[in-house]
Amino acid sequence: MNIKPAASETGDPLLLTPGPLTTSASVKQAMVHDWGSRDQGFIAINKMVLEKIVELAGGQGTHVTVPVQGSGTFAVEAMITTFVPKSGKLLVVINGAYGQRAKKIAEIAGRAVATYETPEDTPPDLARLEKILVDDKAITHVFAVHCETTSGILNPIVEIAALVKKQGRRLLVDSMSAFGAIEIDARNVHYDALAASSNKCLEGVPGLGFVVCRNAALAECKGNATTLVLDLFDQAEGFAKTGQYRFTPPIHVIVALGKAIEEHAAEGGVAGRGKRYRENATVLIDGMRAMGFRTLLPNDLQAPIIVTFHMPTDPKFVFQRFYDGLKDRGYVIYPGKLTVADSFRMGCIGRLNADHMRGALAAVREVLDEMRVTNGGPALAAE
Ligand SMILES: *Cc1c(COP(=O)(O)O)cnc(C)c1O
Repeated sequence: MNIKPAASETGDPLLLTPGPLTTSASVKQAMVHDWGSRDQGFIAINKMVLEKIVELAGGQGTHVTVPVQGSGTFAVEAMITTFVPKSGKLLVVINGAYGQRAKKIAEIAGRAVATYETPEDTPPDLARLEKILVDDKAITHVFAVHCETTSGILNPIVEIAALVKKQGRRLLVDSMSAFGAIEIDARNVHYDALAASSNKCLEGVPGLGFVVCRNAALAECKGNATTLVLDLFDQAEGFAKTGQYRFTPPIHVIVALGKAIEEHAAEGGVAGRGKRYRENATVLIDGMRAMGFRTLLPNDLQAPIIVTFHMPTDPKFVFQRFYDGLKDRGYVIYPGKLTVADSFRMGCIGRLNADHMRGALAAVREVLDEMRVTNGGPALAAE
């Protein structure tokens, strides 16, 4: 190994993954205190965090952030089961694992479900989506994923929102891996609810999901929920009455998220964060292509969040050796789980910059050399 292993500010390997991801030392440092959950100091920090998230969403005066203890999926499940009434029907737009997961959530909750599925490298066709809504009047809600992290594809959420509104239906958005880095402004994009979490583009630590809810829509949701803990209506009512969580909040996570949001603002908000991630993605994609690797997605479908590469077909390439070699050099990547292609993924988000991506490329080169792989491409016949 010729290069010195890369490390985060706290000496850990860099996470080129879709989250949890590398966070700043200052975000981690924010957690080394204790707060009482009923303490005014904590209640004030939590209030600030929830208000800042509404601002980031462009929802001041019209929307409210309702947090949910747990990972992002807890927020997605809370969103679906709070907003879709028992008599409702949810159309799930699927092109990856997170769309599939939403379908499963709705089914377990006993909601009527329809799906519109396209392959993992294909965005939904808007005319087809519109026809489904026109033909099935029972559909009350549509669920769509903003950036489908399975492949890294950017779905046309603005167009989907306009179409759903035109057809008089309600939209639920999973913007988990995009919120904070790819603009989605509630003043232009009409939705009932949008779910995201502490540990993706906001660069906090894992443990808090949240749902940005349109006030008028949330007001109609009393009694919809099929669980106690994931009832966003009840959770919101608790905050309105006392400013407090109904059940123990992940206090350290929330305080760290407050710090992370401060750093997000200092970087220039959504525009600044998105710019750094786009640079990371460009450096990564150009460098990998120069070594022969092929991306699953063309540039125009690629979100600057996570990049899927076809597995090289050179028989000397052994993925486990590749993974371990990169890990030894301080870079943790992500095995793929696509149905359309044998692949692996490298993330561009978290406390990473273009120099880190160049370091990762140098590590890839070294590991390929060690395996005597000269070209990272998939054989054309394998497609
Ligand atoms: C990360 C992610 C989630 C939530 O996953 P958790 O593991 O529960 O945090 C949901 N949807 C998308 C698109 C994601 O990227």
